[in-house]
Amino acid sequence: MAIHHTKVLIIGSGAAGCTAAIYASRASLAPIMVHGMQPGGQLTITTDVENFPGFEHAVKGPWLMEQMEKQAAHVGTQIIHDTIAKVDLSKRPFIAVGESGDTYIGETLIIATGASARWLGIPSEKQFSGFGVSACATCDGFFFKGRDVVVIGGGNSAVEEALYLSNIANRVTVIHRRDSLRAEKIGQERLFKNPKVSVIWDSVIEEFIGTENPTSLTAVRLKNLKTGGLTEYKTDGAFIAIGHTPNTELFKGVVTLDSEGYIVTTPGRTTTNIPGVFAAGDVQDKIFRQAVTAAGTGCMAALEAEKFLMGH
Ligand code: NDP
Repeated sequence: MAIHHTKVLIIGSGAAGCTAAIYASRASLAPIMVHGMQPGGQLTITTDVENFPGFEHAVKGPWLMEQMEKQAAHVGTQIIHDTIAKVDLSKRPFIAVGESGDTYIGETLIIATGASARWLGIPSEKQFSGFGVSACATCDGFFFKGRDVVVIGGGNSAVEEALYLSNIANRVTVIHRRDSLRAEKIGQERLFKNPKVSVIWDSVIEEFIGTENPTSLTAVRLKNLKTGGLTEYKTDGAFIAIGHTPNTELFKGVVTLDSEGYIVTTPGRTTTNIPGVFAAGDVQDKIFRQAVTAAGTGCMAALEAEKFLMGH
C-alpha cells in the first residue's frame, strides 16, 4: 500500500484528464493521473470519431484515447491503474484513497471523472452497442445517413437528438414510455412539426434485434405499456437518450454540486467551492459534452492549478 505525493492529482483519464495531465506535465508539475473505472472515458465506447480536430479521416475513439494517454505519459505524467474510492478534501494537501489501498496526496486536485450515459440495461443492448445502438447522436448520427433510426427518451436530449438526426436520417421515430414528453415546449413544437419525425407513445424497448456476422441492428421489439402488446419495429439505428449521470458520487456533500449532481464551477473557469480543487470535462458540463470541450476544460484546469500553486 504505497503513498504517492504529487503537486497535481488528476482523477479520471478521459479527454479532460489526459489534457490536464499533458499541460500539468509540461509545466513541470509531475502530475499523477489515476485511471478510474473506465480508462480513457466515454470515447472508448464510441467507434469512429470524426469531429476531433487534427485528423483528416475518422479515427477510432479507443485509439484516440490511447494516443492521449501515451502523450501524457511521454511528457512525464505518472499514470496509475486504480479507482479512487474515498477522498478527504477538508484540508490541503488533499487525500484520495484508491481501491488498491494506495493513498494519493495532492497539493491540488483536478476532478475529471466524467459522466456516464444512462443505458436501458437490457442484454441485447450490449450486443448491438456500436453496431446500431448508440448513446450519442452527435458522435454516431452521421453513419445513419438516409437510413431509419429510433430515439429512446422523452427529455430535452431525446428531442435534440431526434431533431439533429432528422437532418441526416431518412426517418426518425421517438419511442417514449409515457404519453407526453418532458422536454421543453419549444423543442416539442419543433419535433411535432418536423415531417421526418414521428413518436410512438407509451412504449419501451423489450429487445434489440439484428444479425450476427456482421453484427447489425435491424429492428426493436416494443412493448406497449398500456395494452401489453408486443410489436417489432424495423430500424437501422437506435439512439438511447435517457439522460447522463455525472460521476460525482465521491464528492457528494464535499464539493458543491447542482441539483442534477454536476460539479458547480465558476462560469468560464474550472474552480470549485474548494480552493485548489478544479473540475474539468463532463463532470461539470451538461451542455456540450464533447471530447474537444472536455479537452479544453482539462487544459484550463491544469493552467489554473499551476497558477494556484504559484500563489501558495
Ligand atoms: P432527462 O432526465 O430530462 O430525460 C430523460 C428521459 O428519458 C425522460 O423522458 C424519461 O422518461 C426517459 N427515461 C429515463 N429512464 C428511462 C428508461 N429506463 N426507459 C425509458 N425511458 C427512460 O434527461 P436529458 O438527458 O434529456 O436531460 C438531462 C438534463 O439536461 C435536463 O435538465 C435537460 O433539460 C438538460 N438538457 C438541456 C438541453 C438544452 O438546454 N439545450 C439539451 C439536453 C439536455 P420520463 O419522462 O417518463 O421520466
